[in-house]
Amino acid sequence: MKGGSAGKLWVVATPIGNLGDLSPRAQQALRDANVIAAEDTRHSRPLLQHFGIATSLTALHEHNERVALASLIARLQAGEDVALISDAGTPLISDPGFRLVRAAREAGIDVAPVPGACAAIAALSVAGLPSDRFVFEGFLPAKAPARRERLRELADEARTLVIYESSHRIVECCADLRNAFGAEREARLLRELTKLHETCIGMTLGEIAARVADDPEQRLGECVLVIAGRGEEADAKLAEGRRVYALLRAELAPAQAAKLAAAISGAPRKDLYGG
Ligand code: SAM
Repeated sequence: MKGGSAGKLWVVATPIGNLGDLSPRAQQALRDANVIAAEDTRHSRPLLQHFGIATSLTALHEHNERVALASLIARLQAGEDVALISDAGTPLISDPGFRLVRAAREAGIDVAPVPGACAAIAALSVAGLPSDRFVFEGFLPAKAPARRERLRELADEARTLVIYESSHRIVECCADLRNAFGAEREARLLRELTKLHETCIGMTLGEIAARVADDPEQRLGECVLVIAGRGEEADAKLAEGRRVYALLRAELAPAQAAKLAAAISGAPRKDLYGG
């Protein structure tokens, strides 16, 4: 793999917890590369040491990506092989690397994946929610108004949603999700996947929001939310709720009509006013 004409950029997935998930092919690619471009070299060194990989490391992160990639592209053009890794999981998936991969493609350099762990896919594979079509949202906006706006846009999404969230915002985020999508929406919170304290809680956004608010343990570590899309059942309930609301509205004040129509149909009360 070393020397010759242009080198190759290997995009290598690393474990999201369990070191056993670094595949033999990934170990080989990291060993054979001339240099490993890592999000945080201090973070990745122990992983490489664990596998006895002595390849040199160089930093490639959000703040130096533009500058560092020029030197990496030059090395690739000079015939060296570069392996790209991030702190955990698959590079470019809510992690740096996009600009390097794009620049390599533009320069006509071969780019090859060494697939492996990805928290979104790991979560989806065990959530027990429809997985034939899904939307990966990555991280929602950190600030509450922008996050709520984004959730309003997503409330009618029919496909399963996969969201990353950091533990210090998880209580707020789950409360916003419950308010935007309704407490009954099916969902799972998957924490610490492949690690000692791996857990999955559900079954609805109402239950998840209550558990993370009440139980500090449910706020620890890393987590992924998998949320069912708005189903046909919900659409049928809403149609029925709006029909009942229209009938009751002829006799009652809007708030009272909506309250009764929601109770009769099972549709969320807040969705009935505008219908
Ligand atoms: N590139 C990574 C991947 O392929 O999954 C994701 C990197 S992103 C910066 C980090 C987020 O991924 C965390 O905030 C969390 O939402 C999710 N994550 C990473 N490891 C996880 C794990 N072991 N269990 C649950 N979620 C995890």
